[in-house]
Amino acid sequence: MEYQVLLYYYYTDIEDPAEFSAEHLEFCKSLNLKGRILVAAEGINGTVSGTVEDTEKYIEYMEQHPLFKDIVFKIDESDGHAFKKMHVRPRQELVNLSLEEDINPRELTGEYLEPADFMKQMQDHNTIVLDARNTYEYDVGHFRGAIRPDVEAFRDLPDWVEENREMLEGKRILTYCTGGIRCEKFSGWLKREGFEDVGQLHGGIATYGKDPVAKGQNWDGMMYVFDERLTVPVNQVEHTVVGKDHFDGTPCERYINCADPDCNAQILASEENEAKHLGGCSIECAKSPINRYVIDNKLSAEFVRERIQKLEEEYYAK
Ligand SMILES: [Zn+2]
Repeated sequence: MEYQVLLYYYYTDIEDPAEFSAEHLEFCKSLNLKGRILVAAEGINGTVSGTVEDTEKYIEYMEQHPLFKDIVFKIDESDGHAFKKMHVRPRQELVNLSLEEDINPRELTGEYLEPADFMKQMQDHNTIVLDARNTYEYDVGHFRGAIRPDVEAFRDLPDWVEENREMLEGKRILTYCTGGIRCEKFSGWLKREGFEDVGQLHGGIATYGKDPVAKGQNWDGMMYVFDERLTVPVNQVEHTVVGKDHFDGTPCERYINCADPDCNAQILASEENEAKHLGGCSIECAKSPINRYVIDNKLSAEFVRERIQKLEEEYYAK
């Protein structure tokens, strides 16, 4: 069976997000979709997976819905579902920027650049390409030469910009994110802050990678996605690995969750290093009494003790 993953967002007025969410959840379930959808008074943002037939029905329904007139879907082929469950949740904001005074992208946003334009313009001398995502997303793949804001959450981005104002002032700023939704607000916020020349990658990296002209060029590594696939390819012309193994820094694109459920940090690690470290991102996590890696692999207490001792003596002694 062939499946598809749909990624989409749309800014529109939704009167009662809670009621809409409940109804929309039932509808999605009736189509056997799985995924995560956020609904706010300002619009909708979702990723869902399902069979080609079911996802096509969903697209048709949304495109005909009076609230979502010009909605655009980014579509990936897939071998199966990309989620385990179906959630539709009401939220205050579609993307959490937590501004005191919110931005409505339908009133204020950066100039939309289609992939081919973005590709050309990011080479310009006076242009700064600013990644609007988080560090863990940047680290497995990004546009060549893009600035990596040191933030772990989107809502921290405005503070980062204030601290780095000097670097950005007087430049043309191009922003990009996964599907484009974060840039809608972020580029609008930049303009309100007095940065005059701001462009955004329309449709995000997801669109750029499929564009027949851009073909994902100038992208290094993979694109982080918020579903079970974890990463997907972007650059159709060449592939460069930029991700680095958490433990030894060698090239790596394999994400794991730290085996300590209380930590659950997402790290890049080879299968070999995961085994060596019992799946723990630190010695404390490796030692966790509820270490998932130890439990799932039915490792004996003696084996674990020896492994921990070896790690403490050899790896963590440095
Ligand atoms: Zn950990």
